[in-house]
Amino acid sequence: MSQELELQYFVKAIKHMIIMAEENRDYFSKLDSDVGDGDHGINLSIGFRDVDKKLENFDMDNETITTLFKTVGMSLLGKVGGASGPLYGSFFLAFGSALDNKKVITTDEFINAFGSAVDKVQVRGKAVLDDKTMIDVLLPAKEYLFEHKENDFKENLTAVVELMKERSKEIKPLVAKKGRAMRLGDRAIGHFDPGAESSWHILECFLLALN
Ligand code: ADP
Ligand code: MG
Repeated sequence: MSQELELQYFVKAIKHMIIMAEENRDYFSKLDSDVGDGDHGINLSIGFRDVDKKLENFDMDNETITTLFKTVGMSLLGKVGGASGPLYGSFFLAFGSALDNKKVITTDEFINAFGSAVDKVQVRGKAVLDDKTMIDVLLPAKEYLFEHKENDFKENLTAVVELMKERSKEIKPLVAKKGRAMRLGDRAIGHFDPGAESSWHILECFLLALN
């Protein structure tokens, strides 16, 4: 059952992400200090603060969902160092460019664009399942959405966020095979992957914006 999503909905979702990045800044950085260099929360906060600044001049009449996501992607790509900036940056750029400059899309189009965005992260980062990265939660999310396109969108997103949370916990026992955490070897065992945690928080913002 396809529903429609307007530009306004996406602006709302991005505003939730701006708040989420601030609220979880210390949490994401703490997770990253266990397995990396402790900057994941700071990275996302810097990126989304820049998004917030850009949105001040966002002209709803002349913009589209594509240009909105391009703005987000460029901020993350341009302002955020580390691995996650380019990866999330490409995620949003690919999400937007799949939407063909529309102001209203169907939930089916959302799902297809989300799929392209996840594929882009995989092409860029070259991570596969069980490398213990954000891909471990993003890929199952894509799969779930594609398999449940006919369901109610809100129900779908609710289930996807739960699935991603579960996946993020399930990969804790793994050794990381990509990113900085790789250097830790067995010492990464038992810890969260910071990017897997931030990924489900980002998806949750799409759910919150439906309310
Ligand atoms: P950095 O590791 O460069 O300091 P961040 O701390 O912001 O960057 O982000 C770390 C997160 O990036 C990891 O938790 C992981 O989820 C993700 N990541 C790192 N490398 C890759 C990769 N090659 N593919 C997918 N995700 C990756
Ligand atoms: Mg880091």
